[in-house]
Amino acid sequence: MIGFIGLGNMGAPMALNLAAAGHTVVGYDITGRGPERVQMVGDIKSAVEGADIVVTMLPNGQILRQVSAECLPVMAQDSVFVDCSTVDVESARAVSAAAEKAGVAMLDAPVSGGVSGAEAGTLTFMVGGPTEAFARAEPLFEIMGARAVHCGDAGAGQSAKICNNMILGATMAVTCEAFALAEKLGLEAQALFDVVSTSSGQSWSTTTYCPVPGVGPVSPADRGYRPGFAAELMLKDLRLSQQAAAGVAAETPMGARATSLYEDYIAQGHKDKDFSALFEWLQNRS
Ligand code: NAD
Repeated sequence: MIGFIGLGNMGAPMALNLAAAGHTVVGYDITGRGPERVQMVGDIKSAVEGADIVVTMLPNGQILRQVSAECLPVMAQDSVFVDCSTVDVESARAVSAAAEKAGVAMLDAPVSGGVSGAEAGTLTFMVGGPTEAFARAEPLFEIMGARAVHCGDAGAGQSAKICNNMILGATMAVTCEAFALAEKLGLEAQALFDVVSTSSGQSWSTTTYCPVPGVGPVSPADRGYRPGFAAELMLKDLRLSQQAAAGVAAETPMGARATSLYEDYIAQGHKDKDFSALFEWLQNRS
C-alpha cells in the first residue's frame, strides 16, 4: 500500500498513475480533494499507517517538516518516505536524519517535467538517499516518470533540482532578452530561432519552450503565457538556489541576477504568468 500526501496539481496525477498501475493508494490532502481512484482519508495517520512507501508532494520545506513529523512516528520500520516536493537542501537533510532515527529510509526525489509530465507519467526524478531505498522506490519512479537518476546521499536530489532550475531561470531570462533585443534591431524572431536552435546559443529555453508566440514548438507563449511553469514557482526555485549557495559560500552571480529579475517581474503583479512571459515584459521596457 502507498500513502500519498499532497494531491495538488502535481501530486494528484502522480497518485492517479500509481493507482492506475494497480497499486492501492491512500491519500491525504488538507483540502480533502483527490482523484477518484485514490482512497482519500481525513488525517495523515490513516494515510501512512501500514504503508510500505509514503510519497509526499508538498509546497515547501516548512510544510514537509510538519508533515514528516506526523508521518515518521506512525510509519512501519523499514518503510520508505519519498519526498517529491521541491524544498531547500537543509530541510531534505533534516527530514532524512529524523527518518533514520525513526527506522525509516528517506529519499529526496524532486521532479522535472511539470504538470504535463506528471499526467503523462514522464517525469524525471533526481534522487538523494540510500541505495537500497532507491532500489525499493524505483518501480514507482518508473510508473510516475521516464527517468530516475540516483544522485547521491541525502539532499543530492534537491541539490540537482536547484542547480538545474538555476540554469533554467538564467537561460530563459537571457533567451527573452535576446529575442527582445533582436526585435529592436529589426531581426525577425523566426530568423533568430532558426539560427540559435542550431548554433552555440541553443538551449531548452529556445528549442522546446521558445518565449516568443508563433515561433518554435507550441509553448505557453502561444496561449497567452498561461502556465506551464508559473513565474512564482521559478522564483521559488531560484531563491532556493541562492539559499543553498549562501550556505556553502558559492558565487552564483548569474543565478543571483535571474532571481532579482524574477523578483521585479513578480512584484509587478505577474506571479501567475508562465515564467517565459519575461519576454513580453522585456519587450515593453526600454
Ligand atoms: P500545489 O499547491 O498544487 O499542491 C500542493 C498540495 O499540498 C495542495 O493540494 C495542498 O492542499 C497540499 N498541502 C499543503 N499543506 C498540506 C499539509 N499540511 N498536509 C497535506 N497536504 C497539504 O503544488 P504543485 O504544483 O503540485 O507542486 C508541488 C511541489 O512540486 C512543489 O514543491 C513544487 O515546487 C514542485 N514542482 C511543481 C511543478 C509544477 O509545474 N507545478 C514542477 C516541478 C516541481
